[in-house]
Amino acid sequence: MTSVSPHKKAKALKPTSRRPAKELCSECGLCDTYYIHYVKEACAFINQQIDRLEEQTHKRSRDLENENELYFGVHQDMIAARKQQPIEGAQWTGIVSSIAIEMLNRGLVEGVVCVQNSKEDRFQPMPIIARTPEEILAARVNKPTLSPNLSVLEQIEKSGMKKLLVIGVGCQIQALRAVEKQLGLEKLYVLGTPCVDNVNRAGLQKFLETTSRSPETVVHYEFMQDFRIHFKHQDGSIEKVPFFGLKTNQLKDVFAPSCMTCFDYVNSLADLVVGYMGAPFGWQWILVRNDTGKEMLDLVQQQLDTQPVMSAGNRKQAVQQSIPAYDKGVTLPMWAAKLMGVVIEKIGPKGLEYGRFSIDSHFTRNYLYVKRNYPEKLEAHVPEFAKRIVGQYKLPD
Ligand code: FAD
Ligand code: SF4
Repeated sequence: MTSVSPHKKAKALKPTSRRPAKELCSECGLCDTYYIHYVKEACAFINQQIDRLEEQTHKRSRDLENENELYFGVHQDMIAARKQQPIEGAQWTGIVSSIAIEMLNRGLVEGVVCVQNSKEDRFQPMPIIARTPEEILAARVNKPTLSPNLSVLEQIEKSGMKKLLVIGVGCQIQALRAVEKQLGLEKLYVLGTPCVDNVNRAGLQKFLETTSRSPETVVHYEFMQDFRIHFKHQDGSIEKVPFFGLKTNQLKDVFAPSCMTCFDYVNSLADLVVGYMGAPFGWQWILVRNDTGKEMLDLVQQQLDTQPVMSAGNRKQAVQQSIPAYDKGVTLPMWAAKLMGVVIEKIGPKGLEYGRFSIDSHFTRNYLYVKRNYPEKLEAHVPEFAKRIVGQYKLPD
């Protein structure tokens, strides 16, 4: 007699039903499947367990005494890289899509969980299991909204796939790691990107309308290392808006509550992480967390220019000054914001120090948010590494 896995008796929630994490839900997709059975343990916002899952995934948790590990998590290598021939229309140079395509072409995996957009709306996420390079390419570029990537998990078991690559952001990957052993796979590869300040689709609209001169033509945007947001428009033009000129008073409620309580900016549980914030402008930043991650990166080495990571400047004062400014919702006049952007770009943090600047600014903000809105969650929800990072700064009550 074959026994049925207990989760198969569970039932996915209807799209309109309230999620177990309530307003903190990041719509990771787990609850759209019968794996909702494990939600109390697996949900990143109900049961923060980065330490334990680091042990499970990388065979050790991060070394809190080593500054690079404290900030960027367990890793065996860190480099800056860019594709010699960038993929047209990718978020950066398309390293993520290139690795996924190589893995599929070489038969390392049978499918790739990634996210395309709906036909009607370039920012509406549509998760799929890609089985061809064309389907992977169609998923390139960020969908800058919460995306239910894990909603396709039931299809994996049904399809009989045994080797799978999942591309995703931190909250999706935490839930994935928690149910990994239930998926019936022989090998799971995880390619992560950092993620911060995400929004739901309505929030994205508000952000674009408050910040860009032409919200309806934006095809792509990024918070860049030059302290400006770069909006790329349909006609190829780039609009640059300084961070310091953001209308923080209007934008305070725009970010999803899940993202305001997240401390997994750098996707601690992926095998390989591809972002940009620890690299010089125009380059991507790669963290190889374990041997599986190394195997994945090796597949595209020939297609990359690389250089060692660098670090310059000192972030501490800029972070400390930004804490009360954000808290009070101060908006600088545009001329002052531009001036501040120019000065800080000249003398400000670069490379890994910029990465630490961004982590410090977001962790201090998020720590205050949890403390004020979910004081009962503060102790268990904030990981030890984040407590240490936040502990370097003086916070308002
Ligand atoms: P591409 O080849 O263009 O591929 C992008 C891949 O991302 C696709 O495979 C797609 O499936 C996946 N994807 C797109 N949208 C989503 C989504 N919403 N959820 C899950 N997966 C998605 N990097 C930093 O260094 N610092 C940051 O602050 C930062 N913030 C980010 C915020 C968001 C919301 C996202 C989605 C990513 C963020 N990144 C950040 C990562 C960075 O913007 C790039 O995605 C990364 O460098 C890969 O670029 P690429 O050209 O190699 O990707
Ligand atoms: Fe479920 Fe994911 Fe939302 Fe948590 S974040 S409640 S696991 S859909």
